[in-house]
Amino acid sequence: MTALLAIEDLSVHYRSPAGPIHALRSVNLEVRRGEVIGIVGESGCGKSTLVSTLIALLAPNAEVTAGRVILTGQDILTLPEREKRAIRGARVATIFQDPMTAFCPVLTIGMQLCDFQHHLGTPRRVRQTRTTAMLAHVGIADAAVVMRRYPHELSGGMRQRAAVAAALLMQPEVLIADEPTTALDVTMEAQILHLLRKLRTEIDGAIIVVTHHLGVVGELCDRVYVMYAGQVVEEASVDDIYHAPRHPYTAALILCDPANLSNRATILPTIPGRPPDLLNTPKGCAFAPRCPHADAICRTVPPPRVRVSATQAALCHKVTA
Ligand code: ATP
Ligand code: MG
Repeated sequence: MTALLAIEDLSVHYRSPAGPIHALRSVNLEVRRGEVIGIVGESGCGKSTLVSTLIALLAPNAEVTAGRVILTGQDILTLPEREKRAIRGARVATIFQDPMTAFCPVLTIGMQLCDFQHHLGTPRRVRQTRTTAMLAHVGIADAAVVMRRYPHELSGGMRQRAAVAAALLMQPEVLIADEPTTALDVTMEAQILHLLRKLRTEIDGAIIVVTHHLGVVGELCDRVYVMYAGQVVEEASVDDIYHAPRHPYTAALILCDPANLSNRATILPTIPGRPPDLLNTPKGCAFAPRCPHADAICRTVPPPRVRVSATQAALCHKVTA
């Protein structure tokens, strides 16, 4: 089956006074219709940069130095701005990371959600009915009342649900959730995850979940891409990520996942060291300085991408097919 969305060999850097910050380096990713994909990695590894290329909305100082983003056969990065805008929201929609800042504070939730459907060309009354129904559908009681509320009048969990409703109202082919649960408490998080799981059977497209929380991936996703320092270091099914990780970074992430600890562990394990500076990326493997298996080759030669099965590949000198 051909991919709904494919990222091919994509490299992006940010211009900065100190020099280019290499936020994405030769990233490849493929999403098929019906799939839920997870993108996992530590803070600063390039997840949000990747999302911004998927909606063709990069920061002004960002530059795509190589690669393509193909949505149903078309490279969206080369389209004129007007056509990029038409894709954004309507075909690829994001659930914002921070719905408090994403909604306009001086307009009611109802007005904003109705405006989001502008491209559908339906009369205002129809959009209003549809919006109220969608708010109810994502689990907001009193949807008609909430329509008349301003964003600051909603709780964090309700705002997050409204953000999910906003994205769904666009009927996108690709729904992207960038850290959909980080701002929420555990109960809310469970409810939003439950909602996203329900939605996967409803949208005729794909969902991409971006998170640094492995638990979220296990709950929701079919396949996972693990990112480190701007690169995809491993791709695999959720099962293989948990039970047969091949990249030492993935293995370390699993070990540090609080869900895998015994109740008696009092100190959370962490991966020693820090990710490399993206201004001066290392010559060899980016993970080598933190990797227990690294040798001289790892420190000096860029690692190969080793395919271990049809669904699993790792960027590592030590992995054999
Ligand atoms: P987080 O988990 O904290 O959201 P992330 O994985 O989403 O992190 P990005 O926001 O994509 O990471 O950032 C990747 C790298 O690019 C980081 O080093 C970040 O500091 C840098 N960066 C992001 N946006 C810009 C910008 N507009 N200008 C300069 N550097 C940027
Ligand atoms: Mg981010």
